[in-house]
Amino acid sequence: MSRQSLPIPADAPGTPKCPVCSSTSSRVWNRSAEEIREDLNAYIHPLPDVSLIGRDYSMYLCGNCTLTFADPLIAGDGRFYDWLTTCSWYYPVTRWEFSATSDLLRQRGVRTVLEVGCGNGTFLRHMKAFDDIRVIGLDLSADAIADCRAQGFDAHLCDVNEYRERLQVQLGPVDAVVSFHCLEHLANPISFIRGMWNVVSPRGAVYVSTPYSPLHYERRCGEPLNRPPHHMTCWNIRSYAALARSVNLQHRTFLPAARSVLERTRNTLAKWDRSVQMTRGRKATLFHALAHPLAATAELLHQLRREKVHGIPASDEILVEFTAPKT
Ligand SMILES: [Zn+2]
Repeated sequence: MSRQSLPIPADAPGTPKCPVCSSTSSRVWNRSAEEIREDLNAYIHPLPDVSLIGRDYSMYLCGNCTLTFADPLIAGDGRFYDWLTTCSWYYPVTRWEFSATSDLLRQRGVRTVLEVGCGNGTFLRHMKAFDDIRVIGLDLSADAIADCRAQGFDAHLCDVNEYRERLQVQLGPVDAVVSFHCLEHLANPISFIRGMWNVVSPRGAVYVSTPYSPLHYERRCGEPLNRPPHHMTCWNIRSYAALARSVNLQHRTFLPAARSVLERTRNTLAKWDRSVQMTRGRKATLFHALAHPLAATAELLHQLRREKVHGIPASDEILVEFTAPKT
């Protein structure tokens, strides 16, 4: 009797493969450039010209690793970021992962760390408290590098691949590479991690942080900045595990404590109802809950079911450590 082949599931026509694990995907979001502009106008600040969006976008959910990713994987260009960075809040003063990362760097005995995407130096300033650790910053913005140098930091206008080719011999080996909130903006996550791993010493480590998706309020309110052309990929525990497998590295994940169920519910309702947002506060949210009891109850139940990571509800950020595989 001849052996029968098992049927191979056909790819849905036209659906892109996951950029992390190459599995098939299904479409979960689709917006024209004009609709994306309307979202940004409503939630961020007025976008003067739809050409800054550049194209229509979809987002696809990987059926294997649950990465959500943009199609096409083409990030916003310089004009889009010039517009976005006019928001004073765009570059945070600090991030929770700065302390988490510096603790991990100390534990590893790191002497030199390279930051990819250093911006105007928020992490470099944080590391000034650790005078036994040398920090080098890289960025593709000439203004950001000029700003860092004016503050006295060792900063260079290049990406990590150019650093490896042009500067590594001169500046010496690095024990760790860090990059905060860059991965999700890039079209090729695997080459980004490999590029960082290529400059780190054999017993070194790479640290990246991103938002943890979905954000706690995202189901009800959406988040235009966690969508293209701003973010190309949305990450969670499973997609990071797939990324580690794809680059053949070990990984560990770290998340801060999430806000409480009530805080997440209140924050989501406040974002959802602009009248509450205008008069933010517990009393306003209580009035809102009384006015919209079904929505408030549904949101509370949704927050109670929030995904758990390491046994506790997922927060909105994640830090991941990549190290050499066990031999
Ligand atoms: Zn995948």
